[in-house]
Amino acid sequence: MVQLNDNYLKLKAGYLFPEIARRVKVFCDAHPEAAKRVIRCGIGDVTEPLPSAVVSAMHKAVDDMASRESFRGYGPEQGHEFLRHAIAQNDYRDHGMEVADDEIFISDGSKCDCGNILDILGHKNVLGITDPVYPVYVDTNVMAGHTGEANEAGAYEGIHYLACDASNGFVPEVPKEKLDVVYLCFPNNPTGATATRAQLAAWVAYARAHGTLILFDAAYEAYISDPEVPHSIYEIPGARECAIEFRSFSKNGGFTGTRCAFTVVPKTLLAATATGECKPLHPLWNRRMSTKFNGVSYIVQRGAEALYTPEGKQQVRGLIEHYMGNAAILRAAVQQAGLPVFGGVNAPYIWVGTPDGLTSWEMFDRMLTQANVVITPGSGFGSKGEGYFRISAFNSRANAEEVARRIAAL
Ligand SMILES: *Cc1c(COP(=O)(O)O)cnc(C)c1O
Repeated sequence: MVQLNDNYLKLKAGYLFPEIARRVKVFCDAHPEAAKRVIRCGIGDVTEPLPSAVVSAMHKAVDDMASRESFRGYGPEQGHEFLRHAIAQNDYRDHGMEVADDEIFISDGSKCDCGNILDILGHKNVLGITDPVYPVYVDTNVMAGHTGEANEAGAYEGIHYLACDASNGFVPEVPKEKLDVVYLCFPNNPTGATATRAQLAAWVAYARAHGTLILFDAAYEAYISDPEVPHSIYEIPGARECAIEFRSFSKNGGFTGTRCAFTVVPKTLLAATATGECKPLHPLWNRRMSTKFNGVSYIVQRGAEALYTPEGKQQVRGLIEHYMGNAAILRAAVQQAGLPVFGGVNAPYIWVGTPDGLTSWEMFDRMLTQANVVITPGSGFGSKGEGYFRISAFNSRANAEEVARRIAAL
């Protein structure tokens, strides 16, 4: 009989968001009046429409597809040159970072890229993953057979967990052990923490000393307002020798439903073969994309390109200001309620310590039943998230203000 991939059976049931949905449904069914007041600050999805520069560019691209002269069929698997160039120029070279157009690979999402990157890495690498964490990094390694079973706390054998808590400002210190692959995400989902230049420099120095690959997820870089906080790992000298960067248009351009992202693979990044030779990873990722991917829709790539026009940039700033205005309102509300609050300054997530020794899920229930607000329990992101909850700033202004009033009234 055909065999399945046993590694999938090691996965902990997709517990967090289904369990949130279940509890919300139970509450709403039992309290139909309160159900009408429920405000969701749980999921990390944008709420505001696409920037008009994107909408116009996509309309025009649809028209291109409607005539023989301007019609486009399959594009390059790595992405159209117009978009690779706009990204490398605007996001990197204009900020003094050396990134070539052909080091940019366009995709349909960073979530996919974070999982797909494992295709070009070996199976024996020692993995370092933060706790709490965006669950995709863990689960894709489980699926690929890079871990053993999970223990009762949900920790997988074979993963080296890098603890992030208030004592280190939710930024992991470099470990004493040698790790081969480390996932870093700053600004962070779920904690909203940012890493300083010195902290990232320590990681780059560690990586270069140990031959470690840093997988740097910069999905929230557009939310950085502090001029001291690096937007890219490539702001750190030497990162071109040790890091791959993932970026997405989901959170800056509101592309969560439109789908476009990119991965930066420097040509100077080397990894070891089974026989110990050093070879560049760039040709492997190029080959992986050409073989398993046929490119992002031309229409979507034209929409993403428009984010780099003067109007597009201004409209993105408007979106960020909207969400960060919500974050400031929500952050002030939890602060005034006397709770320990983190994040929400250079990131759209506010990470809050629970009051009265409540567990994350007890706090979830209190917020749902007493304030009719849905938050995300921190323990769903890892054992170190216990005792915290995440409030998302992705909402309308009216909802953010109402949530702030309800927190004050708790
Ligand atoms: C939202 C998010 C992404 C972006 O994912 P897409 O697939 O591009 O929508 C990547 N990483 C993190 C941590 C995120 O929260």
